Amino acid sequence: MKEIKKIAVMTSGGDAPGMNAAIRSVVRTCAFYEKECIGVYRGYQGLIEADFLPLDARKVKNIINKGGTILKSARSNDFRTEEGRKKAHQNLVKENIDALVIIGGDGSFTGGVVFNEEYNFPIIGIPGTIDNDIYGTSHTLGYDTALNTAVEAIDKIRDTASSHNRLFFVEVMGRDAGFIALNAGVGAGAEEILIPEENLGIDRLLESLKRSRSKGKSSSIVVVAEGDRTGRNVFELADYVEENLPEYEVRVSVLGHMQRGGSPSCFDRVLASRLGVKAVELLLEGESDIMVGLINNEVTTTNLEKAIKGHNSINKELLRVSDIMST
Ligand code: ATP
Repeated sequence: MKEIKKIAVMTSGGDAPGMNAAIRSVVRTCAFYEKECIGVYRGYQGLIEADFLPLDARKVKNIINKGGTILKSARSNDFRTEEGRKKAHQNLVKENIDALVIIGGDGSFTGGVVFNEEYNFPIIGIPGTIDNDIYGTSHTLGYDTALNTAVEAIDKIRDTASSHNRLFFVEVMGRDAGFIALNAGVGAGAEEILIPEENLGIDRLLESLKRSRSKGKSSSIVVVAEGDRTGRNVFELADYVEENLPEYEVRVSVLGHMQRGGSPSCFDRVLASRLGVKAVELLLEGESDIMVGLINNEVTTTNLEKAIKGHNSINKELLRVSDIMST
């Protein structure tokens, strides 16, 4: 086994709060073990363009609390080509880099697996995405912060909804996964929650809203994940409900990219710190092709391919709790 002397770290795919805390952790763990560390700007594209920045412990001061990623993130079509990956490998060799820590989502991990198959290059993945849709960890970096941001925003919408007796449809992020919608919905006391994993049908929504009205509720919040299965986007949903329940004055709020930003929560900072340490230690032990994650509050490892192919299921108990709470 080749001794690991220099480790590169990069952020790839969609940015998420906590990525900076993870970069800091990787850099400081390298310093602790007296290894060199180098940052790669703009994910795989920066690897192809040799956009590197040597990092030491002092260079990552004051970033644990910052949202986004100091290394920038990007989506790289060039890395999807053999030629692009060859260039990336040449740059890694030229820079004497022995291993790579990738902070990103399943797409970034897929790129890592493809690269590893071709070049047998040591890689460890740290799950960083607000969607929480990665198998092998109960929490991805940024998810907890995004939940808190969504809950705070919905709380504010509730103030205006109740002042005007309005029904609000609030769209939150989650094209393929309803983790944010379900948890933020329960946390913010939503009347109904629409997620990609469950198609309860639009008629059920109408029935539920009718029932609420008859029980004396004058305002309501419906949380909708981007990828909900009603076949209608949030504006069409709102129109449909307004047509069928004219007693409601309906409004729509799309939270959008604000959910990705902001200072990471304490949970995300601690998670990032733990996962960064484990990622570097695994590389130093000669491991590769692994994602580090958290299960039952223990740092765990999952084969990268399994993490990509596996599926994180929604907590059905939370759906039941949500139903009971909207009584
Ligand atoms: P998010 O979950 O926030 O979208 P992600 O990591 O899944 O993050 P992607 O855009 O899917 O984001 O992937 C990031 C990058 O990984 C891509 O831009 C591409 O460079 C690389 N990548 C993804 N799939 C492959 C693949 N099959 N082969 C080579 N590279 C890939």
